[in-house]
Amino acid sequence: MPAEFHTNGPEETRALARRLAPALAKGACVALVGELGAGKTCFVQGLAEGLGGDPDAVSSPTFVISCEHPCGDQAQLAHVDAFRLGAQEELATIGWTELVADPMTYVAVEWADRIVSELPDSCIEVRIEHIGEDLRRIVMTWPQAAGAVPDWIQSASVAGTCIVCQVPLEATAGPFCSQRCQMADLGRWFSGRYVLPRPLEETDWEAES
Ligand code: ADP
Ligand code: MG
Repeated sequence: MPAEFHTNGPEETRALARRLAPALAKGACVALVGELGAGKTCFVQGLAEGLGGDPDAVSSPTFVISCEHPCGDQAQLAHVDAFRLGAQEELATIGWTELVADPMTYVAVEWADRIVSELPDSCIEVRIEHIGEDLRRIVMTWPQAAGAVPDWIQSASVAGTCIVCQVPLEATAGPFCSQRCQMADLGRWFSGRYVLPRPLEETDWEAES
């Protein structure tokens, strides 16, 4: 289930990435998606810092496709930019397969939507949308293959919210967060406060049963 965050300014985006870093499995892959100036590189700077590297060493690797930064004990962060990648075969020239397979190499890919088929199943997607001058919406998708979802990411999930009180729901809990909200909803039915957008038809009942 995707988790949603908002940041106001580059420092907040870096802080979010710094927070993500220690939650990553060894050698994890982070796929960044977003238009030019969204904040992908900014996010990678935060990741580098959170992993024990130097955030100032991270800049847009657009002209080199891949840049490796030492971080922490023997680990490194490979910062890849898929923007100028001509053909997917070009990925081989940076040793993509080896980078992704190496448990000592974290991989952060900008413009990851250009190499979707090459991303590992365990890849964590970070989608950054430009909302306002300094405002960004950041949606993280944590696949099952990446292991247990950290609590703070789980609690920012947006797919399910209680239809009565809008609190985030557990994956399997249905449309209500509690029996209380279920009863409140029933009350709305009885009081006629529900409005249907069109008249009910015979087939609607069949679909329900
Ligand atoms: P990208 O790599 O996606 O092209 P960059 O990280 O290089 O983007 O640049 C993002 C730009 O947007 C920077 O100039 C940064 O200062 C600015 N910015 C403003 N608000 C934010 C924010 N909330 N998060 C990230 N960057 C922001
Ligand atoms: Mg960039």
